Amino acid sequence: MKNSGQNIRSKFLNYSAFLNRMKRHNIHIHSTFSDGRLSIEEIAVRATGLEVIGISDHAYTTKLPSSLQVNGKLDAYIAELEKVQHLHPEIKILKGLEIDSHRYSGTNPLGLPFDQVNRFDYVLFEQVSLGTFGDRSIYDLIEARPYLHCAVGLAHNDMQINFDSHEREVAKLLTELDIFVDINQSEIGAEGIGGNTRLGLDYFHYFSPELLGAMREYGVKVAIGTDAHAGQSILLIDEAYHFIEQHHLLPHPLIQ
Ligand SMILES: [Zn+2]
Repeated sequence: MKNSGQNIRSKFLNYSAFLNRMKRHNIHIHSTFSDGRLSIEEIAVRATGLEVIGISDHAYTTKLPSSLQVNGKLDAYIAELEKVQHLHPEIKILKGLEIDSHRYSGTNPLGLPFDQVNRFDYVLFEQVSLGTFGDRSIYDLIEARPYLHCAVGLAHNDMQINFDSHEREVAKLLTELDIFVDINQSEIGAEGIGGNTRLGLDYFHYFSPELLGAMREYGVKVAIGTDAHAGQSILLIDEAYHFIEQHHLLPHPLIQ
């Protein structure tokens, strides 16, 4: 009994050390380079109090006109991210993309121009599931993952629905592929737009004990995003933060 008590205590201490390293962050924010309302500079100013932000403008989708996504202007997008980083050394600005991987409106990850995508710190893939309703199967990411040299995450994924009854298999796969999960505290309610919710609740509220247990067991990494398009939700990360803490999930190295 003594040993198991010590194990639990040392597990908790290890987790606290992990959590202490998690910076206050929001890695899912859109700027005027895609369909956000604020410039990258305005976002950096509004993000006072955060230590890391990630700008993840839309790319490689037919859901948006080319003027509202960045794949036609990657040089300008990267130059602006670097300029704003230089002006705001007090906050770490990660260079990101949100890539639509839907089978009809998006891009097959294996067909991406990897030399361009690998210029970024991370990519978030949206519309990933077991391949239902036109979503991209997570198994398609297996083939593309070796070509992606940046961090890779799943954007605002309704995991409990998308991977129901495959929790352990998917958690294992996410860790093997080194893919993190965006714990998305949607801006809906804050700004009345957005909508990564089910019946008014953010998707993470539906994560079952089986899913959370599997994520812990396999060490699936997480990071917080709000899919901010307008600004007010940039700082609204506390619920997601508490969720990560409460369930002992592991922060991704990007935000440590
Ligand atoms: Zn988004």
